[in-house]
Amino acid sequence: MTFESLNLSADIVSAVAELGYAQPTPIQAQSIPLILAGHDLLAGAQTGTGKTAAFTLPLLELLSREDNRTGPRPVRALILTPTRELAAQIDDNIKSYSKHLKIQSTVIFGGVGMTPQINRIKKGVDILVATPGRLLDLHGQGYVDLSQVGFLVLDEADRMLDMGFIHDVRKVLALLPAQKQSLLFSATFSDEIKQLASTLLNNPQHIQV
Ligand code: AMP
Repeated sequence: MTFESLNLSADIVSAVAELGYAQPTPIQAQSIPLILAGHDLLAGAQTGTGKTAAFTLPLLELLSREDNRTGPRPVRALILTPTRELAAQIDDNIKSYSKHLKIQSTVIFGGVGMTPQINRIKKGVDILVATPGRLLDLHGQGYVDLSQVGFLVLDEADRMLDMGFIHDVRKVLALLPAQKQSLLFSATFSDEIKQLASTLLNNPQHIQV
């Protein structure tokens, strides 16, 4: 199994090769074809399995196939995470995987000043990685346009719920277009996660690693 055989473009394949990834991990091998085919996904995966690339590589591929006009533009993909550390790590990974693409990403989280985050968003981003509270804050102030979001990822959904973010997550979901591809990653599946998945996901494919 190679990254090329997963129908990722040469720009993405060369970026992962430069990072020393020899072949896809099991979750990547399973999720990438399903995401590229447009399915919603419910994925059971722990940290350390390569789950970040499992959703960011196909996301980059799909976004790079869309019209990539330049200039400021609304967010096309939203990745929600429970913590600032995870959010920053995902954004770092996206930047490495997209180094040969024109896709722009940024990260927003609480506990730091808003102004640099607002200034970055104003320049236009394709992918926004966010913790729920700061996203709602900036959206409420009119700085984030979520009307064009076509891809949503909930990463570490169980931790997001454990940390008490369910209301914020639901508020964010209510701001998004109904027509979108949604991916939910979680290490565990409580009734609350299953309920969230059933309201969010449309005929999802299930994978477990
Ligand atoms: P994650 O589970 O997303 O936190 O990834 C765990 C670690 O595995 C990160 O340091 C990634 O850079 C690395 N990684 C992800 N995919 C691969 C791969 N296919 N080959 C080698 N390392 C990988």
